[in-house]
Amino acid sequence: MIHYNHQLRPYNTFHISTTAAAFATFDSVDQLQELMLYQKQHPFEENPLVLGGGSNMLFTKPYNGWILKNELKGISVLGETDEFVFVECGGGELWHDFVLHSIANNWAGAENLSLIPGCAGASPIQNIGAYGAEIKDVFHELQAFHLYDNTAVKFSLEECKFGYRESVFKTKFKSQFAITSVTFRMRKQPVFNTKYGAIEQQLEKMGVTQLSIKAVSDAIISIRSSKLPDPQQVGNAGSFFKNPVVNNSQFEALKLNHPGMPHFTDHAGIKIPAAWLIEQCGWKGYRKGDAGVHPHQPLVLVNYGNASGAEIYDLSEAIVQDVQSRFGITLHREVNIY
Ligand code: FAD
Ligand code: NAP
Repeated sequence: MIHYNHQLRPYNTFHISTTAAAFATFDSVDQLQELMLYQKQHPFEENPLVLGGGSNMLFTKPYNGWILKNELKGISVLGETDEFVFVECGGGELWHDFVLHSIANNWAGAENLSLIPGCAGASPIQNIGAYGAEIKDVFHELQAFHLYDNTAVKFSLEECKFGYRESVFKTKFKSQFAITSVTFRMRKQPVFNTKYGAIEQQLEKMGVTQLSIKAVSDAIISIRSSKLPDPQQVGNAGSFFKNPVVNNSQFEALKLNHPGMPHFTDHAGIKIPAAWLIEQCGWKGYRKGDAGVHPHQPLVLVNYGNASGAEIYDLSEAIVQDVQSRFGITLHREVNIY
């Protein structure tokens, strides 16, 4: 069913109240194909937008186009080797449901990514990551539908060009495809990754003596639930900005003026927590009207009730400029702006 001038507040975790010129859901690729043909005859100014759980987007104005919500379901085993099970997951399945399903089946590899909101179909878009793991670690391939060529296309791990909160779907192929299913390569034997942050302390606190993927997942669920604002309680889209990555010489220069600057070194370079930069600039806990910076997680911008997307965006812009003038570092938004 097609809804015109449809309210989007229930479909984005920022709880921004705005409208889509036209809104429809699809639960099969055929239905998506039909909708794309129909919208070609009834176009609006903006291109069609595929929506998952709306947990990584900010609407700053009414969307003058079609919004197509992915409700493709189903999880099935495609095959296995001695080491791996290959599991295809419909793009409209909730990511965390897939994680729980994997744990129930003893498939390892997704446990560190427990409780990330949103759909499986969106998980490759920014190569979701948390607690030292990324989707690319369990990714095998995906099926996508080219919205304009009307064709089904497969993408391999290499073709997705995953990076830190990046993929080809945020760059070269932005808004070109609907990801209809993702096939994950799950391990039969777990390789535990508990070194990150407070996972080990949490496992100890829970009295875990024998590691299991369920125990790691439970520990992460517990840490996340205690640290992160629940979008059901207060509108947000998780981390608003990416952590900036600088090279050695930039870091040495920064360290001269800011000797206490926290940092983590990985293959991409030296990562500086954006939360720290924002806090240093005095934004932690800031509130103007209903738009604010979370009092415990300065990387998370929040809507306390009726903030508009433009107000949240303006706040993010003031933060970008402040961090730029104080540290000479440009923060980049992780959240997709529409
Ligand atoms: P949406 O917000 O609906 O869409 C995001 C983008 O992907 C849009 O551009 C949309 O057009 C596109 N898109 C969505 N589905 C498809 C599809 N099937 N085909 C093509 N394009 C599509 N992210 C992390 O990486 N790590 C975290 O730990 C994390 N924690 C979070 C915690 C909270 C409390 C919140 C609110 C968010 C968090 N996020 C995190 C961000 C977010 O959950 C992820 O980016 C998630 O993958 C977004 O999924 P979604 O279905 O909600 O996507
Ligand atoms: P945290 O553990 O307090 O860490 C703060 C920041 O420092 C993180 O952004 C993290 O970078 C970095 N960091 C900490 N320990 C690290 C290590 N051992 N190696 C490399 N980098 C390290 O962060 P948090 O806010 O509670 O979040 C915990 C995890 O969940 C993080 O991985 C975070 O990315 C993820 N998360 C993501 C979102 C989102 O919307 N994208 C929202 C909530 C939580 P990384 O972010 O690169 O890990």
